[in-house]
Amino acid sequence: MKTLQLGDTTVDTIVEWTGPLFNVRDFFPTGSWEALETQRDWMEPHFLTPKGELPDGLLKASLHTYLIRTPQHNILIDTCMGNHKERTIFDEWSMMNTDYLAKIAALGAKPEEIDFVMCTHLHVDHVGWNTQLENGRWVPTFPNARYIFHKTEYDHWAENPVHHAMDGAFEDSVIPIVDAGLADLVNADHAIDDRIWLEPTPGHTPGHVSINLKSGNDSALFTGDSFHHPIQVAFPDWGTSVDTDTALSSASRRKTLEKLCDTDSYMLAAHFMDPTAAHVVRNGDSWKLKVREV
Ligand SMILES: [Zn+2]
Repeated sequence: MKTLQLGDTTVDTIVEWTGPLFNVRDFFPTGSWEALETQRDWMEPHFLTPKGELPDGLLKASLHTYLIRTPQHNILIDTCMGNHKERTIFDEWSMMNTDYLAKIAALGAKPEEIDFVMCTHLHVDHVGWNTQLENGRWVPTFPNARYIFHKTEYDHWAENPVHHAMDGAFEDSVIPIVDAGLADLVNADHAIDDRIWLEPTPGHTPGHVSINLKSGNDSALFTGDSFHHPIQVAFPDWGTSVDTDTALSSASRRKTLEKLCDTDSYMLAAHFMDPTAAHVVRNGDSWKLKVREV
């Protein structure tokens, strides 16, 4: 994503991985490829590959972190998979060895200059770079950051650490942060300052939050995995096979769409393909995305 300037604040993406990921039939239990095809006009080419490029039924996704730089703070939102972590959820995500930190450096930010790491939720693909391997131990990658975890989310996974969408991440990417004294377990309306604050969007996980950014007259909402793919903008009732509560995730999506619809506020999701940033606009009795022109 090309740098997004919002007032005196910038937003960049650090992309860790992209590729075909979601099999529509398996990932959206109540969805269908036929229904998805009816939305091809606005999704192609960014959010839906041209016909024939991939087998029907397969959608691409991106793993990326957002880097927000305000005049006061450097903030990361969601930290992807991380390096050297053995995972079972998806072969390509196991024992990754990427240049993620070099990409952050290329943007002009050093790990020790990150002030806050915020996780929309604690699934394996959102906490990985919280830690890195050093002399056989998982240590915080961003040693001077406060790591912001929603307490409801943390408590849920502390009680249920074994889950295929956690895949060992609670032990190697969350607990070491708490043990290092860098975690802040916060409420769902927690604010970093008057620019950045949380809002609850539960359903994908019990404590999933979205993150608001307001800078001058500009604004954005980081929606994490309350939406996995833009098709859920058209069909907000398509829950996913990895949601803990489908009805609740649908309600959260509808609330977000009503909030963003026909405003200048950008929607920035955790897995939408480049150019990622988009506006929500009404489309008949539903919604669609209008990608940012760059
Ligand atoms: Zn995710």
